[in-house]
Amino acid sequence: MSEIIITNLKVVAKHGVFDKEKINSQPFLFDCVLEYDFEKAAENDDLNQTLDYGNIMQDISDFCLNNQFDLIETLCYRSAEMIINKYSVKSVKMTVKKPNAPVDLDFENVGVSVHLKRRDVYLSLGSNLGDRKAILDSAVKTLSANRAIDLLQVSPYYENPPYGGVAKYPFINIAVKISTYLSPYALLDFIHATEAKENRNRDVRWGDRTLDIDIIFYGDEIINENGLTVPHSDYVNRDFVLVPLAEIAPDFVCPLKRQRISELLKQLLTKK
Ligand code: ATP
Ligand code: CA
Ligand code: CA
Repeated sequence: MSEIIITNLKVVAKHGVFDKEKINSQPFLFDCVLEYDFEKAAENDDLNQTLDYGNIMQDISDFCLNNQFDLIETLCYRSAEMIINKYSVKSVKMTVKKPNAPVDLDFENVGVSVHLKRRDVYLSLGSNLGDRKAILDSAVKTLSANRAIDLLQVSPYYENPPYGGVAKYPFINIAVKISTYLSPYALLDFIHATEAKENRNRDVRWGDRTLDIDIIFYGDEIINENGLTVPHSDYVNRDFVLVPLAEIAPDFVCPLKRQRISELLKQLLTKK
């Protein structure tokens, strides 16, 4: 793993909550660490094979000057987003310090920091009410319209009988691969908003629904807290998840089971 590091890039700008901060400029100091593989560039001593840190610094400076935010939190997050989207690096750690923050005490700096990291995420989508295909297509569109999400792959549609004994009507299911720097919880919030946009009604668990989106894998992370379980707690028992998933990711290895999707599907089908 290699990194490009910028420290204490000073930009004089007008961010802050108070009126005087919106009129009088003050310094903002940026630190930025970009995870970037520059092995090839180093081997060939070639600027074209690495990132030009001059351009990156210019972009941060321009972004800080061309926007105005109340919070350094916003300035920090939005500049990190700008960099991760423009340079398609694996991760960006951005820190913004405000040495002249309007606090009447003796301090050197106050600052905030954010670490955005791209992960490959696999989602399972299902619909069994309304125009099922149109709803799934619309959900995929909503996902890809989020600037924090890149849509990488979409499986074919599969029609499946309802699962679990509650829902009545047949489903259409797909699997989708995205790349995102949203945290697992921010992604879950966005998924819930996307379901709500398609008029998802959550009254009955496992009931009929216009749209259900489950996070099956979030990179190789294992999460089991605050109401989120990843890998999804029951996906190995669900052919409506594994069949579409095996179309787009047969060789993905489940971080929990340590088996490939194609093997897990084979095991499930032989059990049935
Ligand atoms: P199942 O999770 O068994 O497929 P469901 O999808 O019908 O059932 P929902 O009503 O959509 O269940 O979600 C119930 C809760 O599950 C949500 O509030 C969500 O926070 C939580 N949840 C936990 N793990 C996940 C996950 N991996 N993906 C999506 N939601 C999850
Ligand atoms: Ca589900
Ligand atoms: Ca769900």
